[in-house]
Amino acid sequence: MRQHRSRDETILVVEDEEPIRELVTTALRFTGFQVETAVSGGEALAEARNSTYDLIVLDVNLPDLDGFAVCRKLRSNGDQVPVVFLTARDDPADLRAGFTDGGDDYVTKPFSLEELVLRIEAVLRRSRSVQSEPARLTCGDLILDEDAHRIWRAGSEVALSPTEFRLLRYLMLNHDRVLSKTQILNHVWDYEFAGDPSSVETYISYLRRKLDDREGLLIRTVRGFGYALRAPTAESPRG
Ligand code: CA
Repeated sequence: MRQHRSRDETILVVEDEEPIRELVTTALRFTGFQVETAVSGGEALAEARNSTYDLIVLDVNLPDLDGFAVCRKLRSNGDQVPVVFLTARDDPADLRAGFTDGGDDYVTKPFSLEELVLRIEAVLRRSRSVQSEPARLTCGDLILDEDAHRIWRAGSEVALSPTEFRLLRYLMLNHDRVLSKTQILNHVWDYEFAGDPSSVETYISYLRRKLDDREGLLIRTVRGFGYALRAPTAESPRG
């Protein structure tokens, strides 16, 4: 492989087997990418939450969550980072599962580094060409700007803490769907966090205080199930 010029793109390599992780990391750095690493599914999710990556190379067989579960979790958190799976299993059912779970490509072990790099570059080219507008989520008169981390309700800006922001973002990504406290806990709080559902109740009440006081109710309690974010409508009763 020839040495390429230095690039801006940062890739997260998730692989528990050290020799493979080292090999892939070295090859990608040599190609000119910035590389970060993670050795488990939990660590990968934490890294993806704290930093922005251009692509994730994701091993399927990890000690905790498998790579498909990691990818599902990223997608349900609204993270559209391109994912290239490393899989030792070439069972077609597994590969289909990988794509259903939002992967962009896969490489079957043993693979050549040259092939891996070519596939990564192809996926990055595709993702660059579909890169979208600044990301804004809306629900009724509620607007969330994902890049600027700002929120407006009925035209006035609302200040939220980072946890409130993540909670609201998750509710907005899934608006009109009823989400259980456990679902919310798993997606909004860190994977390692042994949370209890009362934190969800607490933060829902913070959000309501900040968002729901003025212009009609957005966050509904669905008794026995959880919560749902819905745009207020004339016929829906308050409460
Ligand atoms: Ca592995």
